[in-house]
Amino acid sequence: MSITNVPKRRFGQNFLVDRGVVHRIIDAFDPQPDQTVIEIGPGRGALTTELVKRAGRVIAIEFDRNLVPQLRDQFSASANFQLIEADALTIDFCEAIKPSPTARVIANLPYNVGTAILQRLIEQRSCIGDMTLMLQREVVDRIIAPPGSSERGYLSVFVEAYCEVEKLFDVPPQAFRPAPKVWSTVARLRVRPKIAAEVKDEGLLWQVVSAGFAHPRKTILNNLREAPESIQGLLKKRGGASIILCDAGIPPLRRAETFALEEWTLLVNAILAGN
Ligand code: SAM
Repeated sequence: MSITNVPKRRFGQNFLVDRGVVHRIIDAFDPQPDQTVIEIGPGRGALTTELVKRAGRVIAIEFDRNLVPQLRDQFSASANFQLIEADALTIDFCEAIKPSPTARVIANLPYNVGTAILQRLIEQRSCIGDMTLMLQREVVDRIIAPPGSSERGYLSVFVEAYCEVEKLFDVPPQAFRPAPKVWSTVARLRVRPKIAAEVKDEGLLWQVVSAGFAHPRKTILNNLREAPESIQGLLKKRGGASIILCDAGIPPLRRAETFALEEWTLLVNAILAGN
């Protein structure tokens, strides 16, 4: 193995080597000949090899330029394969898949930027149908954490608003080289046709959820009192955080982790009442 091919930590490179797991992921994803598929981080092509056999079009996005020559060699005979050297955190997915209007997404995501890539995919959901993603098991547990769970956070609320999530199966460290320290989980996320909340201002919703979780041990009242200026201004206009929480029917001493998505919506709509 040349020095350039040594797995790089900074790119979260834990390559899948267990063929059984590869097939399980591909079967769960079930790509079809009339579909365009985005694969984020093809790496050494473990999933890609199966994708090019079954999907209509495969667009692979790889950030590590040292992997590119090998990927080009490996898939040069596959007319349905296209490699884009880019950072999944900055690429415009909708532009990358043109002329296809929508694509499905599959990835064994790098641990270090997995949640950031997931958020970016959701932000660009207008051209994404569903995603089959392998993430750190602990991250999937956080995503699906229900109200009242100590694992619930901003990511849980954000993903719930835009996707239906199905946990598929866990994958042990031995399925990868190098083996990570933690288990992974494969999950399917289906993008909802519209946000699962009747909220007056979607941008404000995410500012308020973020402020609510800023200090997870503190009450919602205290977190709102310490929220950024933009939120403070709105709270003042409506008589302050206590009054707004009362209007929304939310006890002020509750913590953000206990909130269901609908309660965040009630809170934001109460902040904007009369606007
Ligand atoms: N798909 C391969 C597999 O299952 O064996 C590799 C998975 S490995 C966990 C993550 C891959 O994502 C690596 O190939 C890595 O270079 C790539 N990667 C890391 N950061 C990236 C980013 N920001 N954008 C695109 N690819 C990235």
